[in-house]
Amino acid sequence: NEELIQKVEKLSLAGQLASGVAHEIRNPLTSIKGFVQLLQKGGGNPFYVDTILSEIHRLEDIVTEFLMLAKPQPRQIEEVNIVLLLQQVITLFSSQTNLKNVEIVEKYVIDLPRIYCDENQIKQVFINIFKNAIEAMPNGGIITIQTLSHGTDSIQIRVVDQGCGITTERLKHLGEPFYSTKEKGTGLGLMISQTIIHDHGGTIHFESAINIGTTVDVILPITKSHLTNASTLA
Ligand code: ADP
Ligand code: MG
Repeated sequence: NEELIQKVEKLSLAGQLASGVAHEIRNPLTSIKGFVQLLQKGGGNPFYVDTILSEIHRLEDIVTEFLMLAKPQPRQIEEVNIVLLLQQVITLFSSQTNLKNVEIVEKYVIDLPRIYCDENQIKQVFINIFKNAIEAMPNGGIITIQTLSHGTDSIQIRVVDQGCGITTERLKHLGEPFYSTKEKGTGLGLMISQTIIHDHGGTIHFESAINIGTTVDVILPITKSHLTNASTLA
């Protein structure tokens, strides 16, 4: 039956993730080991220490993001004002956007309906999307955040960046565990985001043009009835 299929899907996802994590952790460990051995031989090159620290940082990122997937908090569904949530996320990134010459333009419709969702999970979704948008614009640019209302059905949140863009070939792989084109990426952000949005009965869609930018559209239902009981690997 359906419940069993869901269980099997989660188990196979868990296995896939576990072997992926093992693989992802081995690379930084190997490089840390190598540089510590070099330090042991003498000649304290600061580059060795920098590399070790940045590899440790990467390990931390992988573990943090993985824990979020493997050990989801029980969902807490509340009535949430998504504009306030977006503004909180923007505040979180304010020092980073300043530093990187990223300007945020906000375009909100008046009277956007509140939605039923787990506030922290949905916040996590937009943190991941924002982080990607900022990382796609190393030389700065504009990120536009827009909300749209679809009557009593759903709301739409659109995040547009002016970054490097994503090739058609790569678009297909977004959301696959550990799919990353970044030297220090974990490739877990979009997978986590997709899982959360799916659990909320919503959708996420990407459109992109190389060196022009990427548009991410998140659609979330307004009513409670779309919320499934399933939550990530729980
Ligand atoms: P990570 O950011 O750790 O690489 P994600 O799951 O967040 O992992 O994203 C996966 C990949 O999707 C990124 O490595 C990047 O290639 C691509 N991507 C996601 N968002 C954007 C964006 N706004 N602009 C360009 N590429 C993006
Ligand atoms: Mg990311």
